[in-house]
Amino acid sequence: MAEFDDPRRDRRTIRAMRRASRRGLAAQAAPRPDHRLRRRRLAGLAAAIGLAPLLAGFSPVPVPSGVAPVSGITAAQAPVPAGKPSAPLGERVRPGQTGGSSDDQPRRGFFGLFGGGRDNAPASTTPATTAAATGGGSADQRALLNAYPGAFRIEGNAVVFPSGTRVPWDDGRRKSAAELLTDGDVEDMFHYPYPAGSSRPPGRDEDPGRVRSDAFFKALYGASEGAVRANLRAVPWVPKLGGGTLLVTTRFGVDEKLEAVSRDLERLPSRFHKYLVPPAGTFNWRAIAGTNRLSVHSYGAAIDINTKFTNYWRWDAQQAGGTIPYRNQIPAEIVAVFEQHCFVWGGRWYHYDTMHFEYRPELLRHCH
Ligand SMILES: [Zn+2]
Repeated sequence: MAEFDDPRRDRRTIRAMRRASRRGLAAQAAPRPDHRLRRRRLAGLAAAIGLAPLLAGFSPVPVPSGVAPVSGITAAQAPVPAGKPSAPLGERVRPGQTGGSSDDQPRRGFFGLFGGGRDNAPASTTPATTAAATGGGSADQRALLNAYPGAFRIEGNAVVFPSGTRVPWDDGRRKSAAELLTDGDVEDMFHYPYPAGSSRPPGRDEDPGRVRSDAFFKALYGASEGAVRANLRAVPWVPKLGGGTLLVTTRFGVDEKLEAVSRDLERLPSRFHKYLVPPAGTFNWRAIAGTNRLSVHSYGAAIDINTKFTNYWRWDAQQAGGTIPYRNQIPAEIVAVFEQHCFVWGGRWYHYDTMHFEYRPELLRHCH
């Protein structure tokens, strides 16, 4: 569920979802009040202390036979990545992915340093900037343009679509973690670097990929259910495992990318199959309860795998101070397949939703 953003959701609901999953239903998630933000860009610091080459490009931890790798780790228990690719998937890190020419790289690598202890991160001192202010477009703007080729152009502080729709790149506001979720602009979608391949749990309030501009996604995929439906295609899901079909958008070839995910997942050893079927759904046009924000499921660009092995932050008791203990049962091998094909994982969110994957090429270095 694009996050289950629905605060009324509970385990009973999930049981109902499982029953509904073969019909391709899905659900949502809602924000919670969060602590104030820390600084928005980590790149400079990572580069300054020379950690980028060391930290970039970690692969998921190899999985011992029959054991779910990232399962149940906490910040304190998080294993140090061995820097060795997991066996079943072959080459997952492209040569250019860890090459180190982009300022995206140190950001991604530095993220892993924090583990669960985000509270010591320095406060933000960087004012919001725009392409105009920085001259010629930022790395994030280039990532966005390359991720969705031909879909829009960036003019000054606006993302401009062929339809004439203009979506602000940066509204200039400083936002709390909660405000990023409720009022995120396009620039805010890059606020938390996405740590592809990391074996570490997310730090406090780190929700890379959970910040989204609704206006941007509506312009990308369709501003109404009918507009989105016009671009959906029924895609077989792990057909060798009897996964049925799922409705997925054909925009940007997301349908073909999910088919590629499906093919790669089918090749994993059989111990991974139980996580994949039955799937809990892809397309579901639905506003998040109590808000007018839409889940990425609304655009047919997200999938939930088997709810039986999912973990969702709202289900887990919070500790003193509102700390959410990280939980996950989804094997790193499965996550790596999705990330290779440009889907981000809800298990990399502090407010985790571990069965959830969504197409976000702008957040993955090898996808833009
Ligand atoms: Zn989902």
